[in-house]
Amino acid sequence: MTQPLIELKNVSRRFQVKRNTFITAVSDVSLQIAPGEVVCLVGESGCGKTTTGKMIAGLLAPSEGQILFEGQDVTGLKGAAWERYRLGVQMVHQDPYASLNPTQTIFDILAAPLQRHRALRGADLRAGVVDVLESVDLTPAVDFLDKFPHQLSGGQRQRVSVARALTVNPKFIIADEAVSMVDVSIRISLLNTLLQLKERNGLAVLFITHDLALAKYFAWEGRVGVMYLGKLAEIAPARQLVEAPQHPYTRVLLSAIPEADPERTRHKQRIELRSMDVPSLLRLPSGCAFHPRCPFYMGDVCKTSVPALTLRGDQTWVSCHLPPSA
Ligand code: SF4
Repeated sequence: MTQPLIELKNVSRRFQVKRNTFITAVSDVSLQIAPGEVVCLVGESGCGKTTTGKMIAGLLAPSEGQILFEGQDVTGLKGAAWERYRLGVQMVHQDPYASLNPTQTIFDILAAPLQRHRALRGADLRAGVVDVLESVDLTPAVDFLDKFPHQLSGGQRQRVSVARALTVNPKFIIADEAVSMVDVSIRISLLNTLLQLKERNGLAVLFITHDLALAKYFAWEGRVGVMYLGKLAEIAPARQLVEAPQHPYTRVLLSAIPEADPERTRHKQRIELRSMDVPSLLRLPSGCAFHPRCPFYMGDVCKTSVPALTLRGDQTWVSCHLPPSA
């Protein structure tokens, strides 16, 4: 890999939930993302994917470990260097209703960062707003300029959120469950817009989702990382992960995805968990945290020894004691 755009080195994040009580939401995560790369982080609620995204965006500081942006540790950044990093990494949140100011028109929402960061004024400012609206497929753009967020559909609002992120010319966009609150019918079109932006602007994208089917669609040319209780269980190129999943949790998730062909779905063998209960972050299981639910549980080794994330083959990283499978 060329110099990573973003690098996480053994990053952990703890939160205090009560006096003397802490949970570790993210534990010892290491990850590199190249310029222009697409990576999906997938996992169930509470697995640490959003906390990881917020740390990468500079919205939360790690409790341990380092985050590097273009080779520089972001912890010590100040002034112009800090601003360059914060503008370079933009986050699009799950809820477009909450993230847009309801009292401002779409023009005002997009004009403010264009004035501040690109020094656009007058006709150039208007052209800049039209340009970012068109880049997220809100056309004809002039129809949207004087509207307020409540006059748009959920999908259109989310496109405005993406447009706002683009106003500062970022190098990296983190889309946190960015399509989960819009109608199923327009999810794919919104994902396609993000993929086109990645191609057109050379953006790297981290897509965070609980839905492995969406991750598979979005990151088919990139990588998918599966998180479980704060740790990376597996990370691999999407095709490899789908065709030869290594971690038992990945296998369970994949076995539950319906196929396009209903006949194949009917005959697909589901891999069942040993338990449906997700352990609490307050009382993490010993050894491999997945062991109380793992269908491939191997006894003492799983119960007592934490598996390290290790490289299998060229690009697949897995944290599991099971021997590699084909
Ligand atoms: Fe399952 Fe053991 Fe692998 Fe954990 S280490 S995922 S319990 S086989």
